[in-house]
Amino acid sequence: MSGESESESTGESTIAAAQRERALLEAVPTQLFIGGSWVDATAAATFDVTDPSTGAVIREVADAEVADGIRALDAAVAAHASWAATPPRTRSDILRRAFDLVRERGEDLALLMTLEMGKPLAQSRGEVAYGAEFLRWFSEEAVRIGGRYGQNPEGSGRMIVSQRPVGPVLMITPWNFPLAMATRKIGPALAAGCTVVVKPASLTPLTTLALTAIMQEAGLPPGVLNVLTTSRSGAVSAAIMADPRLRKLSFTGSTEVGRGLLAQAAEGVLRVSMELGGNAPFLIFEDADLDRAVDGAMAAKFRNIGEACTAANRFIVHASLADAFTARVTARVAAMRVGRGTEIGVEIGPLIDDRAVAKASALVRDAVARGATVHTGGEVRAGTFFAPTVISGVPAGAEILRQEIFGPVLAISTFEDEDEAVRLANDTEFGLVSYVYTRDLARGHRMIDRLETGMMGLNAGVVSNAAAPFGGVRHSGLGREGGPEGVHEYLETKYTLLPND
Ligand code: NAP
Repeated sequence: MSGESESESTGESTIAAAQRERALLEAVPTQLFIGGSWVDATAAATFDVTDPSTGAVIREVADAEVADGIRALDAAVAAHASWAATPPRTRSDILRRAFDLVRERGEDLALLMTLEMGKPLAQSRGEVAYGAEFLRWFSEEAVRIGGRYGQNPEGSGRMIVSQRPVGPVLMITPWNFPLAMATRKIGPALAAGCTVVVKPASLTPLTTLALTAIMQEAGLPPGVLNVLTTSRSGAVSAAIMADPRLRKLSFTGSTEVGRGLLAQAAEGVLRVSMELGGNAPFLIFEDADLDRAVDGAMAAKFRNIGEACTAANRFIVHASLADAFTARVTARVAAMRVGRGTEIGVEIGPLIDDRAVAKASALVRDAVARGATVHTGGEVRAGTFFAPTVISGVPAGAEILRQEIFGPVLAISTFEDEDEAVRLANDTEFGLVSYVYTRDLARGHRMIDRLETGMMGLNAGVVSNAAAPFGGVRHSGLGREGGPEGVHEYLETKYTLLPND
């Protein structure tokens, strides 16, 4: 599993690489960011951040209490009126500067993400490119927030429809995409004129803290962006949400936690955006281009070590192609390089923690006990490294078809005809994304209509794009992030009547 690091391949010694990692980590601010200043948490408490590939503590960050959460909300509330009144062009310019800075510091941000989250460096670089795009896209949207002016049907007056920022927002983000999940929320909120309090995942707070320093450098006024790291997420967010000055919650994470937050949001009748879990079907029809489907499957399954809400969870393959597909993905998966994300050529890093390993192991065990066959992998390699796995013949009723795997396990079952494929694909309470491989255009259109999903890849294994509306239906969430839709999540519609007389 141990291999040559990227730095060794460029002639940098292991010691020099370790020193570079240390210097990078030391440079990340680790306090709370409230009202434009870096401040300690009450009682100067901290918690540890670890590298999932070694379990070693890499930094300690401030551990906010409820009082710190309210301080952050105070700052967001105080800055709201002036930020909402700031010319859209100024808001746009700040976001654009932040985009340039993120790209300029891309290598550092990528390494930081790999160190705290574990994903291979090449994929962290991909996330920097993707995450930065939300800053650019919403810098462009900031100056295109429109309205409407027209006569009422009776002809007795004029109707003016305008858009106003919704108000201070609490944002809670997950650990699996530490940069992109932050920019996908911060970008549109700032474009709309909202101030925000961001609470990153306690497992991966460093990337958000580094991004915060960049936003400050880009010229964001004090109080517009406030960031809280905490090991007491439930208590701190509950206190902020119970405060009537908060107007919106934007959450990305598990459906289970999201459901609890929705109930809390109901108390304050808060606007909500919920990006929750997935259980994506990956359908391969008998007329599919198999080369393309195999490439798409590898991307849809193994990107981000399988720890993506968009990860293909259930490969539903026409019976006539199942053996060929299984053989081809097995060959590819068996050859995948597993290791620390900084090692050259690594495609699969560690899972985030022991719980994630236990879950992937249990899902594979359950499927095998019900009759599935393991073609490669299926076991823990060492620590939190889980071997990339292919299993086939997964029968109905297996837990792996019901739960989000969130790990590098490719599970195959089969179907005989289109109706059965649709029934199996929709047999889940989730509905984030679906992947469909077919050469039949008419069938592709039918799938757009028949699959209950917020997004679809038609002969594509990766769909995410800053210019597209990202989000799910059913238990996968409410609202959309990205695209022109993204900014509307942070706007209220106001209607004014002007009588003619
Ligand atoms: P999670 O356990 O739900 O945590 C997400 C965030 O919520 C973290 O910041 C976490 O803080 C916080 N949190 C946990 N319990 C809370 C509570 N009681 N009150 C307030 N905040 C609380 O999810 P995760 O394990 O980080 O992320 C994986 C999940 O996110 C998967 O289900 C995945 O599908 C989903 N996801 C969805 C999308 C999407 O766009 N649809 C994108 C990425 C991920 P702590 O770190 O302190 O626990």
